[in-house]
Amino acid sequence: MAFSPAVESAVHWLQGLLLALLSWTGLAYGVHRLAHHRASWNWLEVCHRHHHRPRYLLEARPLRWHHLLFWFDTLAESVDVWITLTLPALLIAALLPAQGPVLLGLHYFYEVLFSDARLDHNPRIQGRITRVLAWGTYHLEHHRNPRCHYGLIVTLWDVVFGSTSRLLPPDAQAVGRMTPRRDGDAPS
Ligand SMILES: [Zn+2]
Ligand SMILES: [Zn+2]
Repeated sequence: MAFSPAVESAVHWLQGLLLALLSWTGLAYGVHRLAHHRASWNWLEVCHRHHHRPRYLLEARPLRWHHLLFWFDTLAESVDVWITLTLPALLIAALLPAQGPVLLGLHYFYEVLFSDARLDHNPRIQGRITRVLAWGTYHLEHHRNPRCHYGLIVTLWDVVFGSTSRLLPPDAQAVGRMTPRRDGDAPS
């Protein structure tokens, strides 16, 4: 069955968008995993540690005007988002310019309006949806046990690279603690 050129080009564009989203979330997965690698050279790990402070999940994070400028509440938090999500999005947008504006728009609105307590850290989001989307209880498991669930937005890359909690060896599943901080706070 032949489709009109307009339909074919729309399908082609949607395939490109799917490729862009998969590539972006795949890169973000890799960078997030790198952000958990302890090494003296890894300043990204220092920035990301801020996200794993025990108090982080308890702090109210209302929308503030500077969030619209992609400046979040601290330098560490902002650099963490820029390196983990914005840089990969810019790279993919450069490689797939037809889908680039939509990808960057999705990243912007997700980060400003829907991340944190609304989706990522919302404990009321649980069940089947968290098999596909790395929201709610899925991402909170990463805070409980930072050796699993590195996936951001989608869970796919945890499945592909064997870092879902159910694929971890039993000793790693039992870790159940936050990444200890170096500033003296006790891990939760
Ligand atoms: Zn988090
Ligand atoms: Zn993390």
